Amino acid sequence: MTSPVTAPEQSRHIATQLPGPKSRELAARQAGAVPAGVATTMPVFASRAGGGIIEDVDGNRLIDLGSGIAVTSVGASHPKVVEAVQEQVADFTHTCFMITPYEGYVAVAEKLGEKAPISGETRTALFNSGSEAVENAVKVARAYTRKQAVVAFDHAYHGRTTLTMSLTAKSMPYKHNFGPFAPEVYRVAGSYPLRDGLDGAAAAKKAISAMEKQIGADNLAAVIMEPLQGEGGFIVPAEGFLQAIVEWCTANDVLFIADEVQSGFARTGAWFASELEGIEPDLMCTAKGIAGGMPLSAVTGRAEVMDAVHPGGLGGTYGGNPVATAASLAVFEAIEEDDLLQEAQMIERVIREHFEQNADERIAEVRGRGGMMAIEFVDPASGEPDAALTGKLAAAVRAAGVVLLTCGTYGNVVRFLPPLTIGEELLREGLAEVTTALQSV
Ligand SMILES: *Cc1c(COP(=O)(O)O)cnc(C)c1O
Repeated sequence: MTSPVTAPEQSRHIATQLPGPKSRELAARQAGAVPAGVATTMPVFASRAGGGIIEDVDGNRLIDLGSGIAVTSVGASHPKVVEAVQEQVADFTHTCFMITPYEGYVAVAEKLGEKAPISGETRTALFNSGSEAVENAVKVARAYTRKQAVVAFDHAYHGRTTLTMSLTAKSMPYKHNFGPFAPEVYRVAGSYPLRDGLDGAAAAKKAISAMEKQIGADNLAAVIMEPLQGEGGFIVPAEGFLQAIVEWCTANDVLFIADEVQSGFARTGAWFASELEGIEPDLMCTAKGIAGGMPLSAVTGRAEVMDAVHPGGLGGTYGGNPVATAASLAVFEAIEEDDLLQEAQMIERVIREHFEQNADERIAEVRGRGGMMAIEFVDPASGEPDAALTGKLAAAVRAAGVVLLTCGTYGNVVRFLPPLTIGEELLREGLAEVTTALQSV
């Protein structure tokens, strides 16, 4: 097969004002055809992407510090992924695994079982999106425990379907006007060391007390948490918090679901953030980085738990699509061959070092793990979150040709999620733009 890869040159290049004329034309078409509810962070239309660069239709090359929200961890056109997809798509695009199965699905399930931080036998079911994985993890937990209630935490993000937006904490933009929400979803305070000032044991004690008094373990099927909270602000829980929660779950016949949709798949410098927290979930959800940009998600869990569902109870037309599973198998290889766990650790080192050398009193905290790092902005006088500064900063950085994402319940967090293949030089160049912009806003 001829080399299919068309990754752009790995350098930033600004050919026009951003967005350029072709992007502006496309944005006008978008406004007439796509609803306003589907908003874009940066209205430059992509033409090619790979490594640490996104090229747009006007010939601009942008440094990518977002990976399409932690999806293209191996880059947006990794040669292995491109080749695997091209080969598979020529063989067959779909049969439906529930009708006539194929090896790729089974192979991804085996791989996930090998890598998952779950001891003993596991089973894995495949779906299309992160939300769908979370929905199915809750279905499995309810079927296994024969209980209904589910606990999610403050600052949680679990998706946009009815059940998963009910689990998600933040109203605007995810839930506003979209009620009623799913029943039997409860929220308790988690651990946000910068803002709650509690150590892991104290924060866990508070959460456990709320679960015992307000719900009762006898009614509680599962506790779900992102081991490193993503949209909520890249919040690393205080040490010991998650261990205490998981211990309580185990002692009370409550399942613990790790939502590793954003934190999984080498992003944090480990295969899964659960490993870094020293916890073993009963069920784990993955998506985003799992298939190099192809839509794929998974629920992996203890065999006994996963097999509690009756035959035919789990599935979906496209779940574990053969093209997506081929891409995923290539991603597993790429992570290993390109040493992407090491690269994720390099990204953390470089980001921490950069903000130590370029400290600013408006940066309240530099936090995160591996290629999932963030800085939180406050008004230094009051300590209050500074969303206005964060917005202005992000706009200035984007205008300089760097794709930069924000997040956080209070809108005051800049997050760094570069492809793990970005390389140190482009990363440093992107960070330098953040510091330059910070001096001007
Ligand atoms: C993105 C995300 C989801 C939802 O995934 P989709 O593929 O957008 O449905 C769920 N959980 C977490 C932690 C996420 O970051």
